[in-house]
Amino acid sequence: MKTNLNHLLNKDSPSAIGSFNILDLDMALSIIDCAEALQKPVIIGIASRHFNDIRAPLLVPSILKAIETTELPIALHLDHAAPDQFDMIKQALDLGFSSIMIDGSLLPLEENIAITNKVVEISHRYNASVEGEIGGIAGEEGVADTQADSPEYIPYTDAVEAQQFVTATNVDALAIAVGTAHGIYKSEPHINFDVIKEISSMLDVPLVMHGATGVSDASMQKAVTNGIRKINYFSGLLQTAMDEIRGYESQGNDFLLFKQQMQKQWRDVIAEQIALYANLPVKSYKQA
Ligand SMILES: [Zn+2]
Repeated sequence: MKTNLNHLLNKDSPSAIGSFNILDLDMALSIIDCAEALQKPVIIGIASRHFNDIRAPLLVPSILKAIETTELPIALHLDHAAPDQFDMIKQALDLGFSSIMIDGSLLPLEENIAITNKVVEISHRYNASVEGEIGGIAGEEGVADTQADSPEYIPYTDAVEAQQFVTATNVDALAIAVGTAHGIYKSEPHINFDVIKEISSMLDVPLVMHGATGVSDASMQKAVTNGIRKINYFSGLLQTAMDEIRGYESQGNDFLLFKQQMQKQWRDVIAEQIALYANLPVKSYKQA
């Protein structure tokens, strides 16, 4: 049976699960290798904005095959599907995605509830879970640009609205705005831990934090302690790749070696994050 967010996220657990977006099979395999080395469940994400560019319909069968070869529970999640991407959601469910995020956070509450309900209705028929979002998370998913400004101006998710949203939609997980943003931060963001704690105490669903790249280890652990159960990490993987490309220019023409080196770097970053969210002392893939 395929693994969805309901199998992975536990509100009562003291740890969170990492969700890492990918752009190719190398990234997906790096995540799976890491999960196996650490014997920890993980979520592989594909952002809706990349779905067509990376030719997800061709890539996904290989990823699902790789997931099948491990004993570990691993979910395949469509990240940030927009309200006008219902066809993509349907396509993803048919391809075998086990989880969908519908991001209606830019819509008025009533419209966000309506589109989320529609996605929950179809996804649950496929035994796929749904992550909703309330309160916008700044920056664009999968664009590792530096934030123009400190994301402090973003309003935090309102706890009462969040409760209303979850009751009306029956979502399986909820992404909330707590001071983080997509992309690379100019300076350490100020996470509002009280908002996490308040919403967590009022809701039964696991909470999701996006924009983990660049947040300090201490803040990540505090976010988990206060109730975050799924953490989206992606920009750091893009940054790692670009650093590797820049650093490798002078080292010859062995492209395979370059790709292997890149996977090694990804595995190190991913292992660090998985361990951090799970409160494990492991510091790198090599030590796993
Ligand atoms: Zn996001």
